[in-house]
Amino acid sequence: MQGFKHKRVIITGAASGIGRATAEQFIQQGAQVGLIDLNEEELVEIKQAFGDAAHIEAVDVTDSDGLQSAVTKLASSLGGLDILHVNAGINGTFTPIEELTIDEWDQTINTNLRSTFLTVKAAVPIMKANGGSIVITSSVNGNRIFSNFGASAYSTSKAGQVAFAKMAALELSGYNIRVNVICPGAIATNIDDRTDVEPEVASIEIPVDYPERSRPLRQETGVPEQVANLVLFLSSEAAGNISGTEVYIDGAESLL
Ligand code: NAD
Repeated sequence: MQGFKHKRVIITGAASGIGRATAEQFIQQGAQVGLIDLNEEELVEIKQAFGDAAHIEAVDVTDSDGLQSAVTKLASSLGGLDILHVNAGINGTFTPIEELTIDEWDQTINTNLRSTFLTVKAAVPIMKANGGSIVITSSVNGNRIFSNFGASAYSTSKAGQVAFAKMAALELSGYNIRVNVICPGAIATNIDDRTDVEPEVASIEIPVDYPERSRPLRQETGVPEQVANLVLFLSSEAAGNISGTEVYIDGAESLL
């Protein structure tokens, strides 16, 4: 399939999980992609697998100058920018509010929310020439689910992304840039390996008993490829009238 032939795409958090699956699908559909991630080793491996279709920049999205320069360089290598997937994120530290350090709070907010603003800010001057699509990866947490105890920073960052997406959708509509935000439920990626759940969380937990079918649809955890399908749809001409919308992709998990 060549549905995105000649489209120029930038994805953050592209070395693993949802970002990587999205990069692979865009490449399979003929796009040229610019990939941003902290993990240089994984980026190089993707570049080796996909060759000229993939351009890479290893950068920390909390580094404002580095991120600005990475977006500018990638857009220049791609010859412009049509589609942006703002996806880099961490769970960070899960602990009671009184135990959460200011540095831990800042780390999660800066990685997930501040970087969303920075990535969009860097892309707008380039995208406004021709319009395009921005998709931001938020979460069910902070939007429909508030029972992941200790996740106050993560949930706040994910709620902020939804508000930011709606502000951006209206502001950028005049440039024909659509902005949507996706809210995945549990997706099988590497995100849990980098989550710091402190034992103190036990002291604030209110037991929440889910029914046996806590993943109502087919009792399955989602996979990154399903989320990638949604990003491609929202970035396609078929979604030409969809902007400022959050889309849940959680098998109805967050409705319980
Ligand atoms: P993942 O850990 O598999 O991939 C995240 C990628 O982001 C990694 O390659 C990592 O190196 C990169 N990254 C992290 N911090 C970075 C930084 N400071 N600078 C540059 N790159 C950085 O996780 P994933 O599940 O694919 O997560 C992608 C997005 O999906 C995140 O925003 C996450 O909050 C969101 N999300 C995930 C789930 C889930 O269950 N997996 C659910 C809801 C939302």
